[in-house]
Amino acid sequence: MSCVFCGIVSGEIPSDRVAEGDDYLAFRDVAPAAPTHVLIIPKRHIDGIAATDPKDADLLGRMLLVASEIARQEGIDESGYRVVINEGAEGGQTVEHLHIHVLGRRGMSWPPG
Ligand code: 5GP
Ligand code: ZN
Repeated sequence: MSCVFCGIVSGEIPSDRVAEGDDYLAFRDVAPAAPTHVLIIPKRHIDGIAATDPKDADLLGRMLLVASEIARQEGIDESGYRVVINEGAEGGQTVEHLHIHVLGRRGMSWPPG
């Protein structure tokens, strides 16, 4: 299998799912960078945010709405949280399947390292 997140979508790779829709899936990060760390991915393989185009507008909007819904579900909507997309080598992307990070339950600094 070439893409780990496609493996998670198909179920070949187990994951701790927290939300799912027709075209997206949300699951807990296997190596959490914060006490709450959820990834939201499109079920269809897209390399990253740079590979999206206007026909993906509805999907991208839905995924951001899911980020805020997950924050509510996880109880971090009032304390605050961070929503991140890493793109490419210098952006820190390690898995080349588009994903939105939702991180919370610890204080975060800016700018990121
Ligand atoms: P990136 O660095 O590409 O923005 O983030 C990739 C994220 O995917 C990392 O936080 C990493 O811990 C997570 N990750 C990589 N492989 C797996 C996996 O097999 N399962 C889960 N749940 N998360 C993974
Ligand atoms: Zn993929």
